[in-house]
Amino acid sequence: MPRTTRAIVQTGPRALELRELPIPELDADRALLRVEACGICGSDAEQYTGVLPMRFPLVPGHEPLGIIEAIGDRAARRWGVNVGDRVAVEALIPCAHCGDCLGGQYQRCRGRGGLFGHGYVPLARAPGLWGAYADYMLLDEHSIVHRMRADIPAGLAVMFNPLGAGFRWAVEIPNTRPGDSLVILGPGQRGLASVIAARAAGAGPIIVTGLTRDAPKLALARVFGADHTIDVEQEDARARIHALTGGRGADVVVEVSANAAEPVAESLRYVAPGGTVVLAGVKGFKPVPDFVSDLIVLKEVTLKGAFGVTHRAYEQAIRLIESGTVPLAQMHTHDFPLEQAELAIQTLAGEAPGEASIHSCLLPGT
Ligand SMILES: [Zn+2]
Ligand SMILES: [Zn+2]
Repeated sequence: MPRTTRAIVQTGPRALELRELPIPELDADRALLRVEACGICGSDAEQYTGVLPMRFPLVPGHEPLGIIEAIGDRAARRWGVNVGDRVAVEALIPCAHCGDCLGGQYQRCRGRGGLFGHGYVPLARAPGLWGAYADYMLLDEHSIVHRMRADIPAGLAVMFNPLGAGFRWAVEIPNTRPGDSLVILGPGQRGLASVIAARAAGAGPIIVTGLTRDAPKLALARVFGADHTIDVEQEDARARIHALTGGRGADVVVEVSANAAEPVAESLRYVAPGGTVVLAGVKGFKPVPDFVSDLIVLKEVTLKGAFGVTHRAYEQAIRLIESGTVPLAQMHTHDFPLEQAELAIQTLAGEAPGEASIHSCLLPGT
């Protein structure tokens, strides 16, 4: 077992440094993961800039994929994995004892104090190597792992995170059934993942909205199974959605746009009477202008918030990746070595001139 690991340590907003950190002894309930890939999403950028409050210093990285390098006896029995197995690791580490955990809603668990999971816990909390911006990461007794086939390129295999979100937000939470019409607001990695999941669930028509600058992502949405795409800056989205859904509006609306609050208000215009709106895009705690609650009342709309992914949705995502039926490589735009973590985040956030990222990841060990 290695004695030290390279890791990116965040010491404050926009402050990352590469360090060599000691790897502690394993006990029977833990494992050491050799990180193959760590996916990067919008919350990495919010963590980097300080929008998401964190206790520093910490090792970021909440979308880990890797190989079990060493494992304690009890952990191996509990997870059914052994040295050499590839696993996808869930971000959140639940307490396994609170009411939310026991009720099966472990993504709401706050039993270990605030947001507890890989990439979010400070170094000071033993054993410290919680995040996947590193060559090696420790798996906690309550970490949740999923076995995954080892022959899929790491940059694609690590998409279990956005795809898992697609299955939970666009299918599981709104209970999407075959033939349901769906509008997805925002064609980023979560929006595209929602298209893939909704298509796998047999929904249709699937309509995706975006801005003029999103044209390449809207084209990709059509590759992944969207029936129609709408540029909301050039077209009357309300009129088109009503025309495409026989005048009723959509059975399900999934709001996954980043930062903009207007689509939240618009979602109530797009949804059909009796339909469901899922809100999953965070807006930096901004209020929503022109939010007309009467539309919820008069149309009897169900409004649901979505945060995180469930075990079942992760499994659906992993099986879909393993099936090879969706050309996911077209969504994977950037790979970065560990030492370029900062550039990777800036690229994802659109701060790198001339680079348009959809799905990016770090590949430690390359
Ligand atoms: Zn993420
Ligand atoms: Zn709990």
